[in-house]
Amino acid sequence: MPEGDTVWNTARVLQRALADARLTGSDFRVPQLAGTDLTGWTVRESASRGKHLLLRLESPPGASAPGHPSAADGSPAEPDTGTRWTLHSHLRMDGAWRAYAPGERWAARPAHLIRVVLRSPHAVAVGYHLHDLALVPTAAEGHLVGHLGPDLLGPDWDPAEAVRRLAAHPDTTIGEALLDQRNLAGIGNLYKCEVLFLRGVSPWTPVGAVPDLAGTVTLAQRLLAANRGRWTQSTTGALHRGQTSYVYGRRAQPCRRCGTAIRKEELGERVTYWCPVCQPPSQ
Ligand SMILES: [Zn+2]
Repeated sequence: MPEGDTVWNTARVLQRALADARLTGSDFRVPQLAGTDLTGWTVRESASRGKHLLLRLESPPGASAPGHPSAADGSPAEPDTGTRWTLHSHLRMDGAWRAYAPGERWAARPAHLIRVVLRSPHAVAVGYHLHDLALVPTAAEGHLVGHLGPDLLGPDWDPAEAVRRLAAHPDTTIGEALLDQRNLAGIGNLYKCEVLFLRGVSPWTPVGAVPDLAGTVTLAQRLLAANRGRWTQSTTGALHRGQTSYVYGRRAQPCRRCGTAIRKEELGERVTYWCPVCQPPSQ
């Protein structure tokens, strides 16, 4: 499941494949960017912010703004936005970027899922089933990610601010609050379920009744950080299939601590997994 660690890893893959490369071609297969051509643009940086991917680009001198061709009289049709642009994408549940060597077969996913192809002399980046694909001036990135809370894997991770934002809505269940990217950015359903199990907190506990919010966000950060650099997401430390989680994806299987059957139920818009004994309801 693409959560903060997966997106962080993906940003690094794109950084290694494309950083400082001058693109030799692009192919957008989404209506909003159809016809956009990034040939000659230089990739400056690939970054993640929570679950958002930001590929920062520099347009060649004199290039017209994408989607804003110069007026016929030569005057700019739009205010000057500079030469720095950001290609934004979101993986949600099913998106992925892959980097291939030139000439290598694109085997990761079926071709009809391809949303964009970026070619450089040394690598081809293919984006599958990407969501919210947009090309915006880098100076305007804030419109896309400015609402996000502190990024658990960002250089500016601020646990105190994450706690402050969570605590501002004490009646929300902690299970929903941890998924709300406005509170803190990067936690998806897997880490939500796992961190609450490890803290012994029922997902239905109101935020205001969680004994140690700081300990909860600190543990979540540690779990995500531990999975940077690998594609297997494990919260148990074990990397073997079937052993990577305590409760997530384990409905009706015995709790690894107490043997009670793990339960699965809807909470808000998502399902949640928990152990009814290790995570008792709050009083
Ligand atoms: Zn248990």
